[in-house]
Amino acid sequence: MSEDDGKIVVMVTGGSGLVGAAIRDYIVETGAKEKEEWIYLSSKDGDLRKRDDTEKIFKEKKPTHVIHLAAKVGGLFANMNEKVEFFRENILINDNIMECCRIYKVKKLVSFLSTCIFPDKTTYPIDETMLHDGPPHSSNEGYAYAKRLIDTMNRAYAEEYGCNFTSIIPTNIYGPHDNFNIQSGHVIPGLIHKCFIAKRDKTAFTIWGSGTPLRQFIYNRDLAELTVWVMREYHDPAPITLSVDEEAEVSIKDVALAIAKAMEFDGEVIFDTSKADGQFKKTACNKKLRKHRPEYKFTTIEDGLKKACDWFVENYDTARK
Ligand code: NDP
Repeated sequence: MSEDDGKIVVMVTGGSGLVGAAIRDYIVETGAKEKEEWIYLSSKDGDLRKRDDTEKIFKEKKPTHVIHLAAKVGGLFANMNEKVEFFRENILINDNIMECCRIYKVKKLVSFLSTCIFPDKTTYPIDETMLHDGPPHSSNEGYAYAKRLIDTMNRAYAEEYGCNFTSIIPTNIYGPHDNFNIQSGHVIPGLIHKCFIAKRDKTAFTIWGSGTPLRQFIYNRDLAELTVWVMREYHDPAPITLSVDEEAEVSIKDVALAIAKAMEFDGEVIFDTSKADGQFKKTACNKKLRKHRPEYKFTTIEDGLKKACDWFVENYDTARK
């Protein structure tokens, strides 16, 4: 792509999702930099599993920078039941994006990994260097191996073609614009939706699993801000973890109770221990981020959950559910 006039065209794949919508809101709120143009794609612009659709998008949009969010994403139960689809769809999407970024001379590609793709048997906290040290948890191995290959190929594209490709490792993300589907969504949006129904129907609020697993959750607005910073300021092919601090790790039980409070639900809360828990913990280390951004202040889980619950209630008719 030509950058002769200094114009920067940032194309965000998966721009209609949880993270993409937050990046759009963040850019609207803070303003694009001079000469920066932002483009947000959804699957309506083309199916990134298809090479022809992907090439067409690159020819039309002429991006100089790409933030690559588009992926087949889902919670524990969707991952366990559709390993083949999680592997194949993500492999196809990522291969098309990386190869088009090489062919169309994109200056920078920032792709998304996840802390849930790290080795199952590991020591904690996990950091960026430990990604390939052992097999992932069996529950999401299709998704995990597809995502790990982004890091492998970022290094390969740098070595062979001099491409400036890097990746972000976020912890669990939540916030407005999430997928609130109870079967296919992640834990927080699923719990918010269930609590909403329990309150509306005056039934019990049932949480799948024991509630004991520990997680670090990042509010999507915080992740959006840090992703834009990575795109503009972080220049290294090695991945960077974007996570709240280790002390901010919380149990699913604490999250469920905070959701009940935010939703003003005062009925019965039940933990259904017949359902799987997934990994007990996957504490991530954010030292690398803290070296660059020591002062960054994350949204607290209570504030973030309150905002996510309020958004869901206000947007119930149109929210993904
Ligand atoms: P969402 O599920 O909210 O959004 C997915 C986006 O990808 C949507 O914009 C969707 O478009 C688009 N998309 C999906 N399939 C295709 C396709 N075949 N062709 C074109 N576009 C497609 O994802 P998130 O915002 O939650 O996730 C963003 C990134 O962060 C992903 O790479 C994910 O793996 C990663 N991540 C997410 C975590 C989380 O907790 N959510 C945790 C860690 C990492 P449309 O709206 O039109 O369907």
